[in-house]
Amino acid sequence: MKVLQLLPIGGPHEPMLDWLRSELSEAFHIRCEILSPPLRPEFAFHSERGQYHSSELLGRMQQYANWKTWRVLGVTPVDLYIPILTFVFGEAQMGGKCSVVSYARLRQEFYGMPADVNLLARRLLIESIHELGHTLELHHCDDYRCVMSSSHAVEWIDLKEQTFCTECAAKARALAQK
Ligand SMILES: [Zn+2]
Ligand SMILES: [Zn+2]
Repeated sequence: MKVLQLLPIGGPHEPMLDWLRSELSEAFHIRCEILSPPLRPEFAFHSERGQYHSSELLGRMQQYANWKTWRVLGVTPVDLYIPILTFVFGEAQMGGKCSVVSYARLRQEFYGMPADVNLLARRLLIESIHELGHTLELHHCDDYRCVMSSSHAVEWIDLKEQTFCTECAAKARALAQK
């Protein structure tokens, strides 16, 4: 049976990652493990933007995929971007093995508000499922409650549920065996 592998990128091995591991295991009905040691993200840092290029991280993550890999999901506290956008919450290889999520902008503190661990965890789970959905070849969904709807602000993430809509779920089921 294949395994969903969580790769910590930068930062310590946090309890949140353990929680995410069990939630994703349940959501995708798959064994999920945390890879060690964490990947150091410095090579993808661009000082002119003060951010990390997510596509470069995805490129490096390829080497972690092996015979037992279902998907590799990178989880990082560093802020990510792709050149055409000011930031991204995450990036995925459409129909590929690798995806990455950042929780830099999922923290309430980023917006000058008090920390909220439960809200952060919920957002991280939603965005993780979203990116994994892209690796299952799912595109963005028009249903704002669906985990596959696109979000460029945390307020939009908070409108989403932690699951695929019926239509996306059916597509995901068909593609999950790949
Ligand atoms: Zn997306
Ligand atoms: Zn949907």
